[in-house]
Formats: sequence, structure tokens, C-alpha cells
Amino acid sequence: MQRIGVVAVIAVCIVLLSGCVTTANDNMNSTLWLQSSSEYMASSLQTYNVARGNTDLALHDKNWTAAPEQTGDFSSLPVAVVMDVDETVLDNSKYQAKLVKTGTAWSSDTWDAWLALDSAPAVPGAVDFIHFLKKKQIRVFYITNRTCRPRKQTDAKCPQEKDMIDNLARVGIAGVKPENILLKNEQPDWTSEKKTRLELIAAHHRILMLFGDNLGDFLPGVKKNITPARRHALVLQYKNNWGRKWYVLSNPIYGSWLNVLGEPKSSYLVGY
Ligand SMILES: [Mg+2]
Repeated sequence: MQRIGVVAVIAVCIVLLSGCVTTANDNMNSTLWLQSSSEYMASSLQTYNVARGNTDLALHDKNWTAAPEQTGDFSSLPVAVVMDVDETVLDNSKYQAKLVKTGTAWSSDTWDAWLALDSAPAVPGAVDFIHFLKKKQIRVFYITNRTCRPRKQTDAKCPQEKDMIDNLARVGIAGVKPENILLKNEQPDWTSEKKTRLELIAAHHRILMLFGDNLGDFLPGVKKNITPARRHALVLQYKNNWGRKWYVLSNPIYGSWLNVLGEPKSSYLVGY
């Protein structure tokens, strides 16, 4: 009898375990939301449509700048829009889905292998919006935390830059110049904080709008050693920028919003 009980427990465990391979991954629902929900598609289109509607306002108001880094007299500088890339212009949910399906965690090596495929589709609305900017002769700079790092198959200093240019071309954004892409570690002081790269662009351009999926695409010092409450306070401090100068894309899969939470993450759930 006791032996039958042990066998039954093992059988239940095997059944549960096989279910757990796919269901226990915290990113299952969030990845599905990005890949299959019409709501995600509508949300991204909404963001880019609102930006399109505000472009002329930003363009014609010479005192308008979206960058706190912008100082001095910027009124006569050429205009530019600054965009993050991952989960802002390119959708990497296929990489995330593979992690969910294989029960594996993010690693710099598997991420780099994904980037080398140049296969990310576009975030809904991004390509049309970038074409719209081009027609208005507004420059686009891409500040990305994809990291320049050596790759075995090539001697290129930053193969990730060519990957991005090729991937953008594949989704319909052709002819992006390397100087318009600023990758992490491309220069020694280009860290995951985007401030130094924004300052560089702001020195020579009036920045009309910022786009990103991470609070760190807009503000410095918000990605670690900070509480969710402090991040909320900063969002409110700049409340008039959202949907006017700053445009945030949805990313429920990963980001500094998650990284700033301590363990156990469940302790941050607020019930009643
Ligand atoms: Mg991003």
C-alpha cells in the first residue's frame, strides 16, 4: 500500500513537472500579451499616433525640447527625435518566447546569437512613424543598450551595430547610418545610463521627442538602487511630458521596473 502511494506521488510529480516547464515561467503571460494580444498592437499604434499628432507643435515651437540634457540656445539647431530600439522599434518577443519554451534564462550569449539573426519584427506603428519623420526631415537617433562586444565569427569591432542596421532595413527602415546609432560600450563612457549619449546629441540638435520602454530611456538614475515609489515620484514630476515630449511603449516582460524590486518579488503585490 505504502509502495503504491510512493508511485502515485512520483507520477503526480512527473505530470506537474512536465506542466511546470512551460507554465512556471513568469514571462509566459507577458510574452503572450506582446505576441498575441490586439491590445498590445492598439497600445503601440496609439502611442505613435499621438506622437504624430504632436510633431508639428514640437517642430514649430523653437523653445520646445524633450531633453533635460538640452542647455544653452538650442532654438536654431537642427531637429531630432531620439528612440530606444528594443521593445520600442524592434520587438524581441521571439527571443523571450524561446526562453519560456525552453525553460531557460536570459544570457548575454543567447541574446547576442538572437541579435545576429537580424530577425526582430517591428513594434506596431514604429516604421510608419519613422517614415513620417523622414518626410519632415527630422533626424532619428537610436540610443540602444545593445552592447558592442566581440563575436567569434567576425573581426568587426561592433558587429551588433551592423545587425541593428540590417534588422531595421528588414522591417522597412532602410539606410540608417552607423553614426545615428549609439550603442552601449561603443565609447568608453557610454554606459547603460543614456545621459552622456543624450547630451552628445543635444549639443548639436534640438530634441523634439524621446521614445522608450524603460524609464531609463528618459531619466538617469532610475534603473537600480531606487524604490518603485521614488520612480513613481519622478514620473509625476515630469507628468506633462508624457504623451507630449516623452512616449513610453509597453514592456511587461523585462526592464528596470522589475530589476529594482528586491526578493521576494511577491512581497510587492498589494492585496486587500
Ligand atoms: Mg528598450
